[in-house]
Amino acid sequence: MIDTFGRSITYLRLSVTELCNLRCRYCMPAEGVCKKRHEEMLSQEETLTAIRAAASLGITKLRITGGEPLVKPNIVPLCREAATTAGIRELCLTTNGLLLPKLAAELRGAGVDRLNISLDTLDAGRYRSITRGGSLKDALDGIETALAAGFDRIKLNTVLIGGFNDDEIPALAELTRRWPVDLRFIELMPMPGNREFGPESFIPCSVVTDRLKDLSPVAEDGGVAKLYRLPEAQGNIGLISPVSAHFCATCNRIRITADGRVKPCLHSAAEYPLKGLDEEGMREVLRAAILGKPQWHGELSYEARSRAGRNMNQIGG
Ligand code: SAM
Repeated sequence: MIDTFGRSITYLRLSVTELCNLRCRYCMPAEGVCKKRHEEMLSQEETLTAIRAAASLGITKLRITGGEPLVKPNIVPLCREAATTAGIRELCLTTNGLLLPKLAAELRGAGVDRLNISLDTLDAGRYRSITRGGSLKDALDGIETALAAGFDRIKLNTVLIGGFNDDEIPALAELTRRWPVDLRFIELMPMPGNREFGPESFIPCSVVTDRLKDLSPVAEDGGVAKLYRLPEAQGNIGLISPVSAHFCATCNRIRITADGRVKPCLHSAAEYPLKGLDEEGMREVLRAAILGKPQWHGELSYEARSRAGRNMNQIGG
């Protein structure tokens, strides 16, 4: 479908749970989420119906996210069904990687094409601190297992946080020489629940090109990242700048939350409920959401915070 600003909407990011086995400080509160009643969330059948409805409107790329999608029971059968939905050409999944040692091979067998794995630091103490208790070793084991399971073009996602991991830019970039992966630095977004991060935390991706003098630009691949490469690297360095240089003019995505709300824009409070509808009903709601997609997400800064009304774990990053 083409929205009212001429953008072709082909990409759905679908959150399958708000729950997570980590508590990243910029993403969710320390106490986790107030568990919603089962009946408030999309059922597995409704989730698959929503995927079919979205595919019938021209969605070709589907990303499963959360919360942490791998904590969801039945994630493998869900991926298998999603991968065979008519119209879906690419099935991706975003994960913190902790459960990949158990699930990577099964996900691959179920038809997941690509993985994005979050990794904000290579320091075990910092990892424990930013995730409120996670183990860096488990995350690294997850990446190694995914590579061994045959996933190629894995993307590692690093949220760039001033005063926390900007001194690790060279070490993190070096991972593109160690493994055949892309490493993407993503600007920290000012969500409702991450006010503990002061203005100094919100640094632009331009610090990466300032620090890494031997980066060469690489042709864009149709995604939102500006791409670069280190000499002799096996993968690219991507810079994703939703705060300093938004990409709303070419935004091709919509989101569906685990409780069944279509969010046409990550930073808008507008939500369109799907819960309880049949495929035709969902199609109509999705159509209305796409036509209601705003032109841009508005000013974003430490002062001008996201108007999303939810934290990232409740939207699906
Ligand atoms: N649990 C999975 C994971 O860790 O990748 C998937 C969900 S998580 C919400 C998806 C992505 O959103 C992660 O890469 C995370 O770092 C990113 N994210 C969460 N909050 C963010 C924020 N305030 N700014 C930028 N990225 C954020």
